[in-house]
Amino acid sequence: MSDIHELVIVGSGPAGYTAAIYAARAELSPVIYEGSVTAGGALMNTTEVENFPGFPEGVMGPDLMENLRKQAEKFGAKLITDDIVDMKLDGDIKVLTDGSGNVLKAKAVILAMGSAYKEIGIPNEKRLSGHGVSWCATCDGFFFREKEVAVVGGGDSAMEEANFLTRFASKVVLIHRRDSLRASKIMAERAMANPKIEFVWNTEVIDVLGDTNMTGLQLRNTVTGEESSRDFSGLFVAIGHVPRSELVVGQISCDAEGYVSVEGRSTRTNITGVFACGDLVDHTYRQAITAAGSGCQAALDSEKFLAGH
Ligand code: NAP
Repeated sequence: MSDIHELVIVGSGPAGYTAAIYAARAELSPVIYEGSVTAGGALMNTTEVENFPGFPEGVMGPDLMENLRKQAEKFGAKLITDDIVDMKLDGDIKVLTDGSGNVLKAKAVILAMGSAYKEIGIPNEKRLSGHGVSWCATCDGFFFREKEVAVVGGGDSAMEEANFLTRFASKVVLIHRRDSLRASKIMAERAMANPKIEFVWNTEVIDVLGDTNMTGLQLRNTVTGEESSRDFSGLFVAIGHVPRSELVVGQISCDAEGYVSVEGRSTRTNITGVFACGDLVDHTYRQAITAAGSGCQAALDSEKFLAGH
């Protein structure tokens, strides 16, 4: 039995790391697969987090994740910077394969794979990705110094991206498909008060223009149907996220949008010994603190499950 782990956690981010902290303190010797390029999760691509309790001055997203990571390590979690590429979750012993070909066995698994950026789904979006089209202002904003860029979306992510981009860009045009924002009041007001941000309402982006580099956008007014084009050097897509459940869809119960389903207020999935937490299960709240809270629940649920075996 020595090569069978008590608990493997798949995915870092606030959910995975919090699960690792709790599970390590419960002496379950958890192994946490952080991901090869996505270690730390979505917060690695943000700047200041102002609403994580306990940080009255705010905290940089990557610093928060590094602290959670250190805390997990301090209590004995084994951190592995690689991806899990295959999971067989049925049966008493779960079998997972990582990106280096190692095969792991575990009595319990916590799924904390988080979510990925949503794409608009227009013809040249993918082709011009990295050539003007981006999903991460903190990663790519620097390349648009004194350029005019567009941000698509009407939620908090779009407000945050637009505000951040004003540090570099000469102008940021926020394009939203409706005439009111989904963003929280404080984020919306901050963006609206920024003189470098122009709002374009009732407009959808229907294509990205450009040969090797993006040169502009093809737009359509959602009320009149009228089409137009406008020159931009960059497009930042900030229209939400999709759950990263591709490895488990088909073997575990998920909803129509691909979020892993859990029983009631617990983190139990329909497969015994498999728990899920964070953005992977949550369409509604999707905050760093709620992800951390559900990571804690997943660790407690798995501890109880393992104690019963
Ligand atoms: P969101 O709240 O779901 O907003 C997505 C936005 O994109 C909506 O305005 C939506 O338009 C628009 N959209 C969706 N699909 C589209 C498409 N195909 N074409 C054009 N527009 C499209 O997502 P989010 O902004 O990523 O925020 C997610 C969660 O994270 C929220 O709970 C938010 O509060 C949180 N968050 C918090 C912070 C912070 O507090 N610092 C920062 C970022 C995110 P409609 O409005 O018309 O649906």
